[in-house]
Amino acid sequence: MYERSNEKQKENNTAKQSFIKSLLQAAVEEVKSISKGAVAMVLVCAIISVLGISLFASNAENQQLANDKAGLSDKLSEKNEQINKLEESLEATQKDVAEKNEIIQNQQEEIENSQIEKEQIGEALKEQIENLDLTGSAASRSDGEINSIEDAIAETELLIRDYFGYTEQGNELISALYDKAEAFRDEIDRYPDLYPTEGGVGSPFGYRKDPINGTTKFHTGIDLGSFTGTPIFAAAKGEVTYVGFESGYGLYVLVDHGNGFETKYAHLDEAFVQVGDMVEKGDHIAAMGATGRVTGPHLHFEVILNGEFKNPADYIM
Ligand SMILES: [Zn+2]
Repeated sequence: MYERSNEKQKENNTAKQSFIKSLLQAAVEEVKSISKGAVAMVLVCAIISVLGISLFASNAENQQLANDKAGLSDKLSEKNEQINKLEESLEATQKDVAEKNEIIQNQQEEIENSQIEKEQIGEALKEQIENLDLTGSAASRSDGEINSIEDAIAETELLIRDYFGYTEQGNELISALYDKAEAFRDEIDRYPDLYPTEGGVGSPFGYRKDPINGTTKFHTGIDLGSFTGTPIFAAAKGEVTYVGFESGYGLYVLVDHGNGFETKYAHLDEAFVQVGDMVEKGDHIAAMGATGRVTGPHLHFEVILNGEFKNPADYIM
């Protein structure tokens, strides 16, 4: 549009110029043919006037075009500036995106690393739990040791939950730990260390003068308490394997603890369990009495390990 109008302007100017040229030629011819200088002067003045008006008009149009051009040029640079700004902003955004991508990548790497770390810890914990040997030596464990094992179990449980939460892996590790803990507690439960009644020790384990005939005899248990009806408790968890009467022991209960240990409760007034019953440590299984070969009411309590009489005091006191 701009180009075209410019072209048109040029054409106009050329036409004007040829017109002026022809006028000048005519004037020259006139000067040549008419000898009067005044006429020639008038003609020349007229021509100059036409030429002047024509040039003025042409200048005004050119000025308008120049203004238009300047306006368009301004707009163009304005647009260019906007484009530059957009490009800058785009560049900044791209940079930002690249930075964020890097952060995400780093985080993913961290997650992967922590995943690997978790797996390693998981394996270590699994091995630790598998190697936990909590059973087989309950006899040598003090209450303090038992407490510290319980603490270790609780700490391991927390550690597993911290690292693995309630995931499948976490649950598997917890389950393995619980199996170990349960076995440990079961062994503790089956270890006959509960003082099985109330009252003091009347007669200790070992060789002693027989209270009835005065001869030296081996006392296979320990005599406790002195009142008929005093409650008697199972010294450990186990299964009742005998409830019955013998002349020496009177009415007695035998409990097998499943770990080589048996405990016997004799001279009972009454038994509250039957053969085949499972009892927990501390269960009220009988009442103290004076049945069998006795001088008065008491509990004759025996601890038997793999068929051998042991000193109950070593376990219950
Ligand atoms: Zn006795």
